[in-house]
Amino acid sequence: MHQTPAYAASSATTPLAPFTIERRAPRAHEVLIDILYCGVCHSDIHQARDEWGGNGIFPMVPGHEIVGRVVEVGEHAGKFKVGDAVGVGCFVDSCRVCPQCVSGEEQYCDEGMTGTYNSLERDTRAPTHGGYSTRITVHEDYVLRIPEGMPLDRAAPLLCAGITTYSPLRHYGVKPGDEVAVVGLGGLGHMAVKIAVAMGARVTVLSTSETKRADALALGAHDFAATRDPATFKALARRFDFIIDSVSGNHDYNAYLSLLKFDGTMVLLGIPDTPAPVAAGALIMQRRKLGGSLIGGIAETQEMLDFCAQHGIASDIELIDIGQINDAYERMVKGDVRYRFVIDIASLRPAA
Ligand code: NAP
Ligand code: ZN
Ligand code: ZN
Repeated sequence: MHQTPAYAASSATTPLAPFTIERRAPRAHEVLIDILYCGVCHSDIHQARDEWGGNGIFPMVPGHEIVGRVVEVGEHAGKFKVGDAVGVGCFVDSCRVCPQCVSGEEQYCDEGMTGTYNSLERDTRAPTHGGYSTRITVHEDYVLRIPEGMPLDRAAPLLCAGITTYSPLRHYGVKPGDEVAVVGLGGLGHMAVKIAVAMGARVTVLSTSETKRADALALGAHDFAATRDPATFKALARRFDFIIDSVSGNHDYNAYLSLLKFDGTMVLLGIPDTPAPVAAGALIMQRRKLGGSLIGGIAETQEMLDFCAQHGIASDIELIDIGQINDAYERMVKGDVRYRFVIDIASLRPAA
């Protein structure tokens, strides 16, 4: 066992603070990873504050956008060697035998994926702990390879924000020339823009205010509109083939559905804490579709990393020390993030 420095929320109402966890020596098919960087996802905030239904497991060490280097490999682990740059995303295990696991969609496992944190190990039922820590032990089948040359700090957010946006774009077959809207320009939203542009789509960012217009265009978006301006919904009515909704807070789905053209699809990625009504008419009138999508499987996550490497895509980040994490949460809740906070895990290691 390795005593491992971490940061944890001890309850839903307390700020994150230093905490120590134990990481096991790798079992036969596991690897031990020294964590270098961990992205800060809005899901970390939702869970650390127990905004999704009161099932949070505390103390909770969040973090599921993990990048680091392998420092030890189990006896029969053959996929990685010491020194390899690797990633761990939102889950670390699943049943492996249900239809979704067999088809590489482990995130939809019939028995429930084992979350990287705020979850229970399948065998010991011990709570899992995430990447706001200096090391993690993971089965090699749930570890990703970071492509050669990709900056490791800017790669970390791909493990959740990247795959969560790549997967629906692929699944729904977004193709060159499609009109795509990205709602909410945060961590997920900015990755959606980069990836959809690389897939050849014509991308419009729909953001609450005008403040992110220049950024959106610099990220590659072709167009931008502010959603606090009611004229936007008139001007863009029936414009889009596909809408990615990455909004973390409550909002009116029907208004956005009206922006879909005939047969268009809107996919929900954001998980606000309260449900919102959907008007049947908003779907019926133009045979529109409303869907949802949860991260992506291991094979697709590797495909996404390779796609991003090929297209020179990485996240735009603000690197922070672990001591800034509570302030980063406050800023994210206000939409003040350009466009992903990434924790430099060196700031968690004891001085040598
Ligand atoms: P984020 O970086 O905080 O970005 C969310 C953005 O949503 C904000 O920057 C803001 O963009 C917009 N927004 C926030 N509140 C709003 C409101 N009330 N009305 C309209 N717009 C609002 O968050 P994130 O890390 O990208 O995560 C976004 C959501 O996706 C979270 O709910 C998270 O839990 C969820 N998520 C889902 C999955 C999945 O698998 N489905 C995976 C990861 C995360 P503007 O400033 O541009 O308006
Ligand atoms: Zn996430
Ligand atoms: Zn399964």
